[in-house]
Amino acid sequence: MPIALLTELLELPQVVVTDYELPDAKRLIVQLAVELPAALCPTCGQLSTAVHSYGSPRTVRDLALWGRQCYLRWTPRQFECATCQDTFVERLAWLAPRHHHTRRFEAAVYDLARRTNGVEAAAHYGLSDESVEGIFQQSATQQVTRRGYPTVRELHVDEIASQKGHGHYRLVLSSPEVGVLDVLEDRQQTTLEAWLTARGPAWCAAVQEFHADMWRPYHTAARAYLPNVVMTTADHFHVIENLHKALNTVRRTLQRHADEATRQHLKGSRWLLLKSPAKLTEAEQLRLTALLAAVPELRQAYDLKETFRAIYTLRMPQEAAQRLTAWLEQAQKEGHDAWQAFVTTVQNWREEILRFFVERGSNGFAEGVNNKIKLILRRAFGCASFAHLRLRIIVAFGA
Ligand SMILES: [Zn+2]
Repeated sequence: MPIALLTELLELPQVVVTDYELPDAKRLIVQLAVELPAALCPTCGQLSTAVHSYGSPRTVRDLALWGRQCYLRWTPRQFECATCQDTFVERLAWLAPRHHHTRRFEAAVYDLARRTNGVEAAAHYGLSDESVEGIFQQSATQQVTRRGYPTVRELHVDEIASQKGHGHYRLVLSSPEVGVLDVLEDRQQTTLEAWLTARGPAWCAAVQEFHADMWRPYHTAARAYLPNVVMTTADHFHVIENLHKALNTVRRTLQRHADEATRQHLKGSRWLLLKSPAKLTEAEQLRLTALLAAVPELRQAYDLKETFRAIYTLRMPQEAAQRLTAWLEQAQKEGHDAWQAFVTTVQNWREEILRFFVERGSNGFAEGVNNKIKLILRRAFGCASFAHLRLRIIVAFGA
């Protein structure tokens, strides 16, 4: 008999296969009977054995079998509770109430949607985009709710560009201890403060390090709400990002005012200037040397960039502070005009920049989060709602 084999392959508790159908080349429909003699009353929690009536047959989607889409069909039993007289339809452990797919099928869809995207999962399982979206939202919400907000020692705040367009940002709150804690709709100080308020005083008191970009509202909120953060930290990754931008501005300014030969030298040299010298190939090193020899003002800017970067290799806070002071003096004196905005930023954020040398944080963490989120955003095609994007980002870091 093939039926016993189907029951064995099905591996679902409470049910046996009584029949099956192959309506076409793509589908398998399995007829089930529920085996249990009693059902638990959801109202009073007592076992009930009295079948009151039968509902109309139900069909739900399950995992595929030998390449066929598999559907389970059965007739739900309605019980009448002897204790409280309530009538109820029995619940099946492998099916969430009112769902059209088994729990394990939804778990598989969720897994694929999480690893790729909704469109791909919909195509793979032959589902509508709306179905996949529904499964994703529900499963991800459960996962995130189950995790909640564990306390962290080290809190990072980073922003990502919103699809709403230029100048609009989302806030990502993360920690090397947990992954991404949350994503907030905008980067207003009040939004961050409301989030910290919702975490409560005990949660806030557990945080000892706060790392963020050089954007004053983050640091102001952190100082007001995190009593054990002695001094906030300007994230190393963002400081270097700003440094690179400054050098690039110098390059573009020089390029604009250069003669034709110099302009040819400068064209397309951005990555060459920003790449870490240790990682340059021999050919790149030669090109860089020629470029810097041809444009002395660029040589000066390049040296300023490298001197600044070298500060981050220091271990002693005291030494870093001295070198930063020296760098500021040199940059103010010799630096191209285009450096001055960065010089001012460093002056304004001196304490927060130097705090890095006390705490150091988890090196490379912020950058890793940032890169991974960029990938997610690219895959999300910009069509996702904020709620979807928030869940997608949180679960990608293993909530
Ligand atoms: Zn009852």
